[in-house]
Amino acid sequence: MNYAKHIFSKSTFLYFLQCPKRLFLHKFKGELRNPEDEAQQSIFSSGTNVGLLAQGLFPGGINAEPPDAFSYHLSVAKTQQLIKEGAEVIYEACFNYDGVLCAIDILVKEKNLWYAFEVKGTTTVKQPHKIDASLQYFVLTNSGIQLEDIFIVHLNNQYVRRGEINVQELFTKQSIHEQVKEQQEFIETKIVELKKVVAYKIEPIVEVGKHCEKPYPCDFTGFCWKNVNEEETKSEREEYINKEYLNEFFSELQYPLFYFDLETVNPAIPEFNFSRPYQQIPFQYSLHIQRNKDSELEQKEFLGDGLTDPREVLVKELLASLGNEGSIIVWNQTFEISRLKELARDFPIYEKQIYDVLERVVDIMIVFRKKMFYHPDFNESYSIKKVLPVLVPELSYSDLSIQDGGSASLIYSELKNQTEEIQIEQRKNLLEYCKLDTLAMVKILEKINFT
Ligand code: SF4
Repeated sequence: MNYAKHIFSKSTFLYFLQCPKRLFLHKFKGELRNPEDEAQQSIFSSGTNVGLLAQGLFPGGINAEPPDAFSYHLSVAKTQQLIKEGAEVIYEACFNYDGVLCAIDILVKEKNLWYAFEVKGTTTVKQPHKIDASLQYFVLTNSGIQLEDIFIVHLNNQYVRRGEINVQELFTKQSIHEQVKEQQEFIETKIVELKKVVAYKIEPIVEVGKHCEKPYPCDFTGFCWKNVNEEETKSEREEYINKEYLNEFFSELQYPLFYFDLETVNPAIPEFNFSRPYQQIPFQYSLHIQRNKDSELEQKEFLGDGLTDPREVLVKELLASLGNEGSIIVWNQTFEISRLKELARDFPIYEKQIYDVLERVVDIMIVFRKKMFYHPDFNESYSIKKVLPVLVPELSYSDLSIQDGGSASLIYSELKNQTEEIQIEQRKNLLEYCKLDTLAMVKILEKINFT
């Protein structure tokens, strides 16, 4: 059988390594794929920006990228042409060896020796990157490019932006030549196995498991996990309340109560001075305030303009609203506390006040994580999105146009590119979403009998 008649990309190879069934579904049953989510799309586009910026490490290169996703043969031909003409820096150099297609982000020739650089939008080198690079090395060396070295170029999480981006400091280059050479036999064997799966067209039998999420979330989980999720829903368990622990938890709360929630964006490439790659930048908060047991609920909120660094104005307004006393109730304190500490680090003028505020933070999620209050319909999750519909079904995220933090973050990042009309609408949606997060905490506490 002629296995080589198909062309396989690097992604196809990685699908196969994760799960042969994933490769099969990808090739023959694409209609079963999960609907693509917007946050995932945003990760892809931020990866593209990182790749373009990294080209600045080797300026003056020639791009061999294909004109569209179906014309890789043109890219392979252009790469060969550029090599023949003596090009010294090629971006998106593309090779095809024995039906396996691979592009490398930057290929450099120095003193007649070749060096390959693969750019990743992460802040460390991860195991899947080494596998990626091993396949690239296999294809390139078998195509006649004797590589002197191969590197992963990743973001340096210690880089702090001050003025224009300094590309040399933003990126770190790490050689993985030795590890990649050790993997060559493994790669060769796996390519043969992969070709068989596609040639025989028989769906491999694979049970669902941890591999469905690692190293990357599989995009066929909706199909494969359907029956498993239905079985779990059928099993019967009971609600459970530990009054003693709950009372102890509530006895530590002090009025005024501030129900607090932050939203953040974390761009791969730092947009503002005094920020780092992937740093979480708070751009919005909502506060519901209950001054005493009988008082009316108040609400305060902040939302950045979508253009400038929102952090200093946000922290100033937040500290003014929080004052000096009362419990600050959050859901999952690790997130809010980490963000507040980062604000203290980046704006040291507010450090003392921020650290005083941190003393007052109380995490309501603990009630659910430590099972002081348990309900089977939480499905072992402590997320507010799971707890709210069970305890307060009349209050729902499903009526909102933004329903989770990932979408809020994406919408805020895109605000500056929208028309004024859309901006007004989206700002209203963002405010509604964050407001519901803090109102949800108020109502959940009411429901579990805190009055
Ligand atoms: S969901 Fe799991 S079992 Fe199904 S194809 Fe993906 S990785 Fe394989």
